[in-house]
Amino acid sequence: MVIYKFGGASVRNADAVRNLAKIVSQYPRQLVIVVSAMGKTTTALEELVKLYVDGWFNAEGKASRKPLTQAPDESQIADIENWHHFKNRAFEKLEEIKNYHLEIVHDLFSDPKHQVYEDVDVYFSSLTGMLNSEPSTNYDYEYDRIVAFGEIISTRIVSHYLNLENILNEWIDARKCIKTTNFYRDPKIDWESTSKLVPLGFHFKRTKIHITQGFIGSTSDNHTTTLGREGSDFSAAILAFSLNAEYITIWKDVDGVYNADPKWIEKSERLQKISYHEAIELTYYGATVIHPKTIKPLQNKRIPLYVRSFISPENPGTLIHSFDAPNIGANSGLTIPVFIRKPNQVMISVKTFDFSFVAEDNLSLLFGLFAKYRVRTNLMQNSAISFMACVDYDATKLPKLVRDLSSEFDVEVTEDLELITIRHFTPEVIEQIIGDKKIIIQQRSRVTARFVLGK
Ligand code: ADP
Ligand code: ASP
Ligand code: MG
Repeated sequence: MVIYKFGGASVRNADAVRNLAKIVSQYPRQLVIVVSAMGKTTTALEELVKLYVDGWFNAEGKASRKPLTQAPDESQIADIENWHHFKNRAFEKLEEIKNYHLEIVHDLFSDPKHQVYEDVDVYFSSLTGMLNSEPSTNYDYEYDRIVAFGEIISTRIVSHYLNLENILNEWIDARKCIKTTNFYRDPKIDWESTSKLVPLGFHFKRTKIHITQGFIGSTSDNHTTTLGREGSDFSAAILAFSLNAEYITIWKDVDGVYNADPKWIEKSERLQKISYHEAIELTYYGATVIHPKTIKPLQNKRIPLYVRSFISPENPGTLIHSFDAPNIGANSGLTIPVFIRKPNQVMISVKTFDFSFVAEDNLSLLFGLFAKYRVRTNLMQNSAISFMACVDYDATKLPKLVRDLSSEFDVEVTEDLELITIRHFTPEVIEQIIGDKKIIIQQRSRVTARFVLGK
């Protein structure tokens, strides 16, 4: 049994879905297909949740708290108008998402009576119902239950289309099998329940193909959770682990894992093979081609992972498995330098007011605050009385973290930085990539050189 995972780009329009069907049709044995939301649907649904929740709490909430018997005053009128504005924009966004999906459905299914039309309609009616009712005060809970529709709808469409093409398959709701804690948007997997439920759901009794959603799971009381942006790769790994899959193939718009994002460095080279260890390091440092959590479950059971191109499926791609060499370049056959770039970085610099040492007295307080707001440090450095952390820009979490830090320390924030990591570096490649750019921090270990660069 094998797992194929298709991301948003591989189902972004009707031709892409046809291409998926062609790839799938060539696999003759038991197969689990994991599919993401179509194209940029997840981002559109995120915008929808924001309009919906902000609309209720910033405008509708305030408007309805005033006694209705009184003539509305000016601020109340403004609130009501504001609410209508948000509500209209939320419904416009929903309409946009619906039209995008319907266009793909019309292109794939010529029979207007096909079941897919009713199914898609039911999902969009559920979303309309949600937008018309008051949200809970837990934003992340609302996010998960709404954003998950992207995957639910895409897999329904793909499943119907494959059946229409005689690629018989059964649709499975991943939420019935992948169980998580109730930390919405960033839950931990309940491995014990998941590894029991997955083989029960994916039983191959009626068909040799199961199709399911990436990115989503549910709590023990069946509330929907999402596993973090780009989390579908991780879903595929969870299923592979629980089903003892022979291997996974992740189908991407690139020919495999390169020694740099080909969109950044044109002359990057495909890596033929990578060890699990190296793959964990690369994704941890920010190589966005695979979700960082994907590797560990596969490594635990030594399940091979292939990254291949859905545009050129005849190409060999990259194999991630247990190898002695960390990475093997397709051209050279040797370990070659790998470059990872993380844009949009923020440096938070913290100093003690009273010259007390950061390390002895204050580190646990600092890490406690970073953990409280779930801000992950991409790089850190400390001296006697100062601590610096480079983190991803986040308009929601960072202001709260900086506010709390400022009540204990002298805090300075620098935005608009980039973090470059070079694995297996040589002085020449550092010179090529960094040149005379403004270095704010640099750190080197035997294998890895890292640079925080300013503008
Ligand atoms: P998915 O369709 O599964 O969501 P993504 O778009 O998230 O796929 O990932 C594929 C993209 O990852 C590529 O288009 C490429 O620009 C980018 N990428 C970043 N780093 C690398 C790398 N080292 N090798 C290959 N691709 C990379
Ligand atoms: N659809 C989700 C996202 O866009 C998950 C994924 O594609 O991996 O983040
Ligand atoms: Mg993606």
